[in-house]
Parts: sequence; C-alpha cells; structure tokens
Amino acid sequence: MKDYVKKDLKYIWHPCGQMKDYEELKPIVIEKGEGVWLYDIHGNKYLDCISSWWTNTLGHSNKRINEAIKKQIDNIEHVIFANFSNKPAIELSEKLVSITPEKLTKVFFSDNGSSAVEIALKMSFHYHAQKGNSKKKRFVALSDAYHGETLGALSVCDIDQFNMIYKPLLLDTIRVKGPDCYRCEYNFNRETCNAECFKAMEKCLVKNHEDICAVVVEPMVQGAAGMKIYSPIYLGKLREFCDKYGVHLIADEIAVGFGRTGEMFACNHAGISPDFMCISKGLSAGYMPMSVVLTREEVYNCFYGDYKEGKAFLHSHTYAGNALGCAIALENLKIFEEENIIESNRKKGELIKKLTLEKTKHSKHIGDIRSIGMITAIEIVKDKFSKELYDGHMRVGYEIYKIALKKGLILRPIGNVLYFIPPYVINEEEIKFMVNTCFDSIEEYFGQYK
Ligand SMILES: *Cc1c(COP(=O)(O)O)cnc(C)c1O
Repeated sequence: MKDYVKKDLKYIWHPCGQMKDYEELKPIVIEKGEGVWLYDIHGNKYLDCISSWWTNTLGHSNKRINEAIKKQIDNIEHVIFANFSNKPAIELSEKLVSITPEKLTKVFFSDNGSSAVEIALKMSFHYHAQKGNSKKKRFVALSDAYHGETLGALSVCDIDQFNMIYKPLLLDTIRVKGPDCYRCEYNFNRETCNAECFKAMEKCLVKNHEDICAVVVEPMVQGAAGMKIYSPIYLGKLREFCDKYGVHLIADEIAVGFGRTGEMFACNHAGISPDFMCISKGLSAGYMPMSVVLTREEVYNCFYGDYKEGKAFLHSHTYAGNALGCAIALENLKIFEEENIIESNRKKGELIKKLTLEKTKHSKHIGDIRSIGMITAIEIVKDKFSKELYDGHMRVGYEIYKIALKKGLILRPIGNVLYFIPPYVINEEEIKFMVNTCFDSIEEYFGQYK
C-alpha cells in the first residue's frame, strides 16, 4: 500500500489548526463512509458525531442522494449561471422559497458559507446606499459570533484566535455583548429568561442606527462559540428593533438550517423572517460546496434597473447554481419530507439529551449541558459550582478528543466544549455508543490527570 499518511503530510496544509499537531496525531485517511460511520485505510471505523463539520444531514454515502447524483451527472454537471440556468437550480429555488420564512422570495447562489455572508453584507450595504442612506456603512455582530473566514465574514466574527491577527484588515464592526445563558449576567435561567440581555443591542441600535446597515446573527445557537444556545425571545426583539430603526437583519443559518435545531430553520423558533438568510452546510446534505442567500422582494427590486444607474449586484462565483449541487439539495429536501426527518430528529435529540444528562450527575467537571434538536453540548469546567474554566493551554477538550478517537468516536470539540451533532440517520444503538464512548473518554482523561 502506498504511504498515504506520509504523502499527505508532505503535500497538504490542513485547515483550522497547527500543522505541528500532526506530528503526534497523524491525519486519518478516510476511504469509505456509510451512514454515521467513516472507515479509514487501515480498516478502523469512527462514528462521525460532528457530521463532518456540521454538514452531513442524511449520512455518508446515502443511497438516494448517490442515485440523484448519478442521474444528474449524465445530463449536465455544471453550466455558467449568468444568462443560463438549469432545471435543478430552478426547482430548488422554488422549493427553498416555499420552505423558508415568509417574504424570502429571491434566491442568490454561491458556493460556501463565508461567501454567502459576504453577499448578504454587500447586498445590505448596497441597498442602503441606493436608498440614499450613504451614512450606513457598519455592521453589528454579537460577541463570540462566527460567520466564516474570508475578510468580510471574518469582520463580523468575534473569535479571537481567528481574527485577532487580521484586525488591521477588517471592517469596523460594532460588537454587542450577546446572550450567555450558562453564565447569565442577569441571573436568570432558561425558564425565567425574557432576553433581558437584549438591552445591550437595543442601546446600540438606538445610538448608532443611522450608521448601521445590518445586524448579523446565528439564530438560536452560536456554533463556534461552543454551541451557545439562547432564547428565541432575543430574536423576536431583534426583529422588532431592526424594523423600528431601518436596519436589516441577516440570519446566518449556515450551521443551524435544515433541521439541526428541531425546526427546519432556527428562525422558526421565534417565528421571524430575516431580510437576508444565509444557508449552506446542510443545504447540500454534506456532499458539495454550495450556499444560498435568500432575500426579500423589496431588496431585489431596489437593484432592478439600467446599468447606468449603478443598480446591478455585480457579484459572482464561478460555481453558482451548480447543477449537481442543486440536484443533491433537491433530493435532500425530498427525503426530509418523505421520511419525516424533522419529527424523527426531535425524538432522537430528546434521547441524546436524556442519556447525556443521566451521565453527568456525578461529575464535578461537567459544567453545562445544553441541547436543542440534534445539538447537545457538554461544557467541561474545572469545577461545576464555580463554573471556572480550565486554562486554554491545557487543551482538555483536545486530549479527550484523542482518547475518544482511539475508541472510534470523532468528537472534535471547540475548546473545552464537547458536542454531539450527528447525521440525522443515527439510530438508537449508535446514539448509545456515541454518548457512552464520549463519557468513557471524559472519565479516562480525568482518571489519568487527577
Ligand atoms: C460554517 C459556517 C460559516 C462558514 O461557512 P464556510 O462554508 O466554512 O465558509 C459561516 N457561518 C456559520 C454559522 C457557520 O457555521
């Protein structure tokens, strides 16, 4: 057998980490996937409980989606999307408009999440400029937000390790302290909360609305912040105040869309409709790079006119409207309907939560368990009574991740937050394996380092 690992390290610069980590933990070369399982070239198998970076909805190598690709590829794989179109893109657009919140009637295609955020930011700015509000140049984002890593998207992120070094290159974003339900400043809990923390956003909008194009948020769950889940009441208030002050609301549903939170879209928990909705990841079932920005008729109409008016949205991505990606997304949505995925997710999510809670009673290191739909997160702390954090350099999460890998589970935590975001096809037995293996790994770690 060729030495794939050696060659990988010779040629490839992997994302999201220090390449030196690979000296100890070699890249795992995956050869095959089936359902929630991934198989490496040595025959080891791993349960992909993070859905390969939160993208996979219906399992790896899903038979129906594979068939849809095979069918599409013999017709047309890709065609230029300026002045040309294709059947899957048209059908998908109609479908997306019908399942997303009201008023989202226009579909703009791109090929990854960060680009979708860039598009929403640019459209919002351009819209206001055309309406004569040339003062509006800034965006508002929440503390701990994550919206992607191209420069515009990075500008609205608030994850120090990703954007600190690039600060000199970034837009001047207004940062507002967002919800933090585990360490609530107002001493409410999830039951008693009325999104008191919205005050900070209200203050910001009252003061700066003349300068603000849009507020961008990850609805319901701040993923990269460590699956921080917050109240839909916050979103309701945000919609109300954005309307009141003529500010757009951009919902970044890239991680939470397509059933992840127990609703088709996270905005549905609050019954709100944003001005722009960015979707990617689950859109193409974890198969292909694809993203979409949906927006309203009013925004679209503002760009409609003659070239000399400078109204067109001159933005393009080569792979926009990719026919294969759209065929996949269509089949994905068909399966959602025919197999009642949302309903089944709610039940599976409840089971994951229940089993996780049962496991955590006696550990002093399990601080918070938070859960919504098919997301359950476990925050590891030094001491659950003080909620004190471990020093970052100890990399407690990473150490547990390495232990779990040996047991056949891919956890890949965020800092010291472990989480389950499995493909929706996970069954009861696999759920038990996932939860048990995770807690065995936690126990092993703290047994070793007591
Ligand atoms: C993943 C993600 C992005 C960025 O998507 P990419 O395809 O990685 O560029 C943006 N926002 C959220 C909420 C995400 O989870």
